Amino acid sequence: MKIIHKTLKLKSAKFLDFIDLTDEVEALVKTNRVKNGLVMVSSKHTTGAIRINEKEKGLVKDFRHFVTKLVPPDHYYHHNDLTERTENLVCEPGASDCLNGHSHILHLLMGATSETLSVIDGKLILGTWQRIFFIELDTGRPREVLIKIMSD
Ligand code: ZN
Repeated sequence: MKIIHKTLKLKSAKFLDFIDLTDEVEALVKTNRVKNGLVMVSSKHTTGAIRINEKEKGLVKDFRHFVTKLVPPDHYYHHNDLTERTENLVCEPGASDCLNGHSHILHLLMGATSETLSVIDGKLILGTWQRIFFIELDTGRPREVLIKIMSD
C-alpha cells in the first residue's frame, strides 16, 4: 500500500468563498501515478468546509442567499457573547473574526469536514458536474486542507 499526503495552503477571500480544489487533487493523483485507491480531502478547520458540488455562479449565489437566511450572521450566538464565554478565547475583545457562531453552526449543519473519492485505473472518479470545493464559512483568511491518498 502506498500512502501520499499533501497540505494545501489556501487564502480564502471572504465569507462563503468557494475555492475549487479539483485540479490540484487530480494533479496529485496523476503526479504520483495512483492507479487504484482512495483520496480523502479534509479541512483542518471548524469553520471551513469541504464539499462536492457543481461549479456554477448562480448556485453559489443561491447558497449564499439561503444560508444567510438559515443561519443569520447577526443573530445572537452564545459563542459570540464574550461576557459569557470562557473557553477557547483566542480573540481580543471586540475582534470581529472570532465572533463566528454562525460559521460553526453552518459547519455543523453541513457535516463538512471531508470528502472521500475513488481513483480507478488512474482516474479520479467524479460525476460530470462534480467539483471539490473548500468553502469559507468565516471571514477570508489563510486555510489548510489535507489531501491523503491510499492506493495499491
Ligand atoms: Zn469560533
